[in-house]
Amino acid sequence: MKVALFGADGKVGSVLQPVLERAGHEVKGIEIGDEPVVAGLDVCIDFTTPEAAPKNVRAALEQGVSCVVGTTGWDPEPLDALAAGKGLRLFVAPNFSIGAVLMMRFAREAAAFFPRAEIIELHNEAKKDAPSGTAKATAALIAGDPVVHSVRLPGLVAHQEVIFGGEGQLLTIRHDTTGRESFAYGVLLALDKLNDLPPGLTVGLDTLL
Ligand code: NAP
Repeated sequence: MKVALFGADGKVGSVLQPVLERAGHEVKGIEIGDEPVVAGLDVCIDFTTPEAAPKNVRAALEQGVSCVVGTTGWDPEPLDALAAGKGLRLFVAPNFSIGAVLMMRFAREAAAFFPRAEIIELHNEAKKDAPSGTAKATAALIAGDPVVHSVRLPGLVAHQEVIFGGEGQLLTIRHDTTGRESFAYGVLLALDKLNDLPPGLTVGLDTLL
């Protein structure tokens, strides 16, 4: 596929670009200050900032290009109608790591058996939004509005623990992303399945598994 990558020089973008190229995709990197000219490409990928992503996605959709978005901390819902109206796909995943998606599935299963849960999400200090999109999505799967604790420190990549507490027992479900390649393989899966999705907005990697 011919792919535009918004945020190609970022921490995720710089790991993602070579993985996409090795998989046979042709990648046009777009950074801040570059004109978002994407007409004629097959898909735009965005790993930028919560401020930049809505503008990039709108520009891509207006040029007739479907989007795969990993940027968190923004609401894609207002762009659903634009994508659907043009017969385009807008796929947004708060977490492109398959292990993290499984962690959320297992947490939803455990939630039925424990009265209380809390979530600890830990990310690199550079991450701008808190709580993370994954933590918010996990909390939404668990009854009782679990408290989310956010940690931002150098040395961390992306980690999350869901701790369930009941009389006489604790259950901890933890996922660690140790390298950003984990996100790249989720993006490859999304590119592969993009045209099987209905036009408009689809949220979450679990919809593709
Ligand atoms: P990062 O290192 O800060 O990278 C963001 C990149 O986007 C930077 O190179 C930045 O340029 C560039 N950028 C900002 N505005 C832009 C624009 N208008 N057009 C094109 N490029 C622009 O951040 P990151 O760690 O790669 O993360 C990026 C986003 O992905 C964050 O929202 C993060 O939470 C999210 N994320 C999602 C997943 C997932 O699985 N869904 C995984 C990891 C991260 P400058 O440096 O010049 O500002």
